[in-house]
Amino acid sequence: MGRDSKEPEIFVAKDVCPVCGKNSLELRWSETEIPSFGRCILLSMKCESCGYKSSTSWPLSSKGPIRYVLAVENPKDIYAKIVKSPTGTIKIPELSILIKPGPSSNSFITNVEGILERVKRAIMALLFGVESEEERKKYQEYLQTLEKAKRGEMKFTVIVEDPYGISRIEHEDREKVREEKYHPKNE
Ligand SMILES: [Zn+2]
Repeated sequence: MGRDSKEPEIFVAKDVCPVCGKNSLELRWSETEIPSFGRCILLSMKCESCGYKSSTSWPLSSKGPIRYVLAVENPKDIYAKIVKSPTGTIKIPELSILIKPGPSSNSFITNVEGILERVKRAIMALLFGVESEEERKKYQEYLQTLEKAKRGEMKFTVIVEDPYGISRIEHEDREKVREEKYHPKNE
């Protein structure tokens, strides 16, 4: 966890592999510049036994907690850019969408349409496991609502929060995005 005051160029350690369980997971930390995210710590893992690979990054600098709010009101707003760092949260209350920071939630850059597409794929995957007709119907109705949102046929709000102020919403019309400070709840 915590960041050292000294900044090692690169740091290597061995750990237990989460896939094969052998003590052959090589961890490498390094500092790097990532476009749109600034200076970051990059952690990459590679297992010499089974080939498992993973990487994640988190920001070194912090602007403090910032929340961005975009009201999607016309089809053009769907193309507003969303930058999400590993510590960012994305919310669309009208569609019950909540993408929280977590191990499986890495950095990505997309647009509002891309977020809706991600949720759609997750719901489609869920649908395979659904056995009750009632539940299936519920998911299918939700998918239709998502499609409507993607076509710009409904209004909704996109909120991006990040305790480090790295994640954000970028719209070509800057006035459309409200930027405010907020107080993250204690975890
Ligand atoms: Zn392994």
